[in-house]
Amino acid sequence: MKTNTILSLVLFLMATIQLSAQNGERKVLFIGIDGVRSDALQQASTPNLDTLFQQGLYTFTSWHLGITVSGPSWSTMLTGVWENKHGVTNNNYTNSNYNDYPYFVKRAKEIRPTLKAVQITSWGPMSNLVYNEGWDSKLVVNTDNDVVSAAQIQLLDPDLDVLFVHIDDVDAAGHGNGFSPIIPSYMNQIQTVDGQVGQILSYLRSRPGYINGTEDWLILLTTDHGGIGFGHGGNTTFEKEIWWAAIGSTVPTQQITVDMSDPNQWLNAPVLADIAVTALDHLLIGVDPEAQVDWNLDGKSWCIDPADTLTSVTNTVSQSYNIRIFPNPNDGNFKVLVDNAKGKLLCSIVDVNGRLITSKETMMYGNTAINFDNIQLTSGVYFVKITDEKNRSQTQKVIIN
Ligand SMILES: [Zn+2]
Repeated sequence: MKTNTILSLVLFLMATIQLSAQNGERKVLFIGIDGVRSDALQQASTPNLDTLFQQGLYTFTSWHLGITVSGPSWSTMLTGVWENKHGVTNNNYTNSNYNDYPYFVKRAKEIRPTLKAVQITSWGPMSNLVYNEGWDSKLVVNTDNDVVSAAQIQLLDPDLDVLFVHIDDVDAAGHGNGFSPIIPSYMNQIQTVDGQVGQILSYLRSRPGYINGTEDWLILLTTDHGGIGFGHGGNTTFEKEIWWAAIGSTVPTQQITVDMSDPNQWLNAPVLADIAVTALDHLLIGVDPEAQVDWNLDGKSWCIDPADTLTSVTNTVSQSYNIRIFPNPNDGNFKVLVDNAKGKLLCSIVDVNGRLITSKETMMYGNTAINFDNIQLTSGVYFVKITDEKNRSQTQKVIIN
């Protein structure tokens, strides 16, 4: 057997094993911690975060590619695009362009309309100046401890699918006493937050669905900026150097370290815009958010989604061809038009749970149409997935009436 045949077989078996181990409902917990410098986090005593990071993908060398101010940064994380698209450049949230670039929860609901998403924050601007961007509830509380208590209550709700909690007091300690690993009150506050994260994780892990495996949670954590002196907003390394983590069944266990003095390496580690895209990739089985042309996202996903892996081992190369579906919506009779494709293509129809309905294989030279006739399906949302010979795939939504 050729080595690459063996490798394909191993990858296929791994994907099959992983897939059978995780049919749980996809959910996301995003814990955002304001103003935590990467060097300070590494030096603080944070047993909960240390243990958590070891179980997933994490980096202490994420370079902040945007404005090191909270409003723009949280907007980037939650939309998956940078401020030139979402428009937020300050904490007043003026000039936001959330109509074109909404929060990821709103995008997720285009495909999972019943998804239930909750935000908890004590930071006024995010609570009050951003209008509902897909949250079912926006809970505004007074302190970080109140955030933790509110999270406990929300995590008792079996229907909860996405929880975003924002923890603010490390930033407050930085503004009050200085952003630096040599400032004891700043370091103490990071250690306090570690305890609060531990509490939130214990509430998550007490969920019956978490325990019995009917839920498949991705945990995301990052910060919006570092700091220098008593502030932030500039371009020093102390403000730009941040950290990022993702823990769950769809992300690898790996520490990523890049040389942040080399701008060519910045995108080799996770960055802020990757939060929304990774969350969407986890939440939406069979959908590649980076390939959704109309979403126009800047970030990339760090999920290696086993549901996608079965047909697409390497999903990171961008495609140069377009897929169009006519008519859409339709009654089960439709054409899939693929532009500029060459060679063998697999066209699959899958449901929202990633289950294969039917597929066709075609040889293509230039523009080609693949016809689907009289597919008997119950009304709803399905996906057309095109996979080429290099295992690159692209997905489009199709609605059957
Ligand atoms: Zn601040």
